[in-house]
Amino acid sequence: MRLTPVAAFEDNYIWLLADASGDALAVDPGDAAPLEAALQRENLRLRALLLTHHHADHVGGVATLAVRHQPVIFAPQDARIPLATHRVADGEHIELAAPAATIEVMAVPGHTASHVAYRVGDLLFCGDTLFSLGCGRLFEGTPETLLASLDRIASLPDSTRLCPAHEYTQSNAAFALSVDADNPALIARAGAVRALRERRQPSLPVTLGEERASNPFLRVDSAAVRAWCVRHGATDDRAARFATLRRAKDGFRA
Ligand code: ZN
Ligand code: FE
Repeated sequence: MRLTPVAAFEDNYIWLLADASGDALAVDPGDAAPLEAALQRENLRLRALLLTHHHADHVGGVATLAVRHQPVIFAPQDARIPLATHRVADGEHIELAAPAATIEVMAVPGHTASHVAYRVGDLLFCGDTLFSLGCGRLFEGTPETLLASLDRIASLPDSTRLCPAHEYTQSNAAFALSVDADNPALIARAGAVRALRERRQPSLPVTLGEERASNPFLRVDSAAVRAWCVRHGATDDRAARFATLRRAKDGFRA
C-alpha cells in the first residue's frame, strides 16, 4: 500500500492510501480540490472515504467527491455527517475489496462525541484525537473521556504509525518543551521536526513508540509531567493532571 499525505487548507492532511492496482481510499477530505489533484497526479481511482468526525475541515469535500467518484463512505453514527453509505461502530472490522484492506474501527470520543479512528495494518488514522506532541481540543467530552481514548490508542503496538489530520507538530513541540524540557526523546523529536519543516516535509506519520516517549499528553504518569501538573495546580490524579495539561495548552502562546 502506498501512503500519501495530501495537504489541504492551512495545516490539514487528507491521507491517501492506494494499493498496487491503483484503487485508493482517502481519510477526512475536508476539501475536494487537493485530493482530486493528487488522484490525477498518481493516477488513482477513489473507491472509499473514511471519515473520523463531523468537523467541516474533515468532511467539506465529501459531497463533491461522492458525485464524481461514487466511493463507499464510512462514518460514525452522527446526524451531522450526511452522505455516509456505511455507519461504523467500535470494534467493527471492515473487509474492503478496493483498495484491498482490512479496516478496524475504534471509538475515540473526546474531541467530539462520535469521533472514531481507523486502523489499517500498522497505520492508525486518528483524526483530531491524537496529534504528534499534542492532542485534540475538548469540544464534546470531558478530560476523562479523551484521556481514556488516548490510553486506548497508547495500548496499540509501538510500531503503529500514527496519521493525524493536522500538521501541528512544530507548534505542539513548543508547548511540550515548556512542560518536559529535559526529556531527551522530546528534544530529539523537536529537532527532527524543525529540520523536516524547514524543508517543507511532513512530520507525519510518526510511530506510537516515539509519541509515547515524547508527547506530554501520553506521559501524564511520568515523573516530570506529573511534577509540572502538580506545580500548575492539579491534584495528583491522572485525569486532573490531563485536564490541567489540556487547559494550559489551550492558553499557551509560544
Ligand atoms: Zn476537528
Ligand atoms: Fe480538524
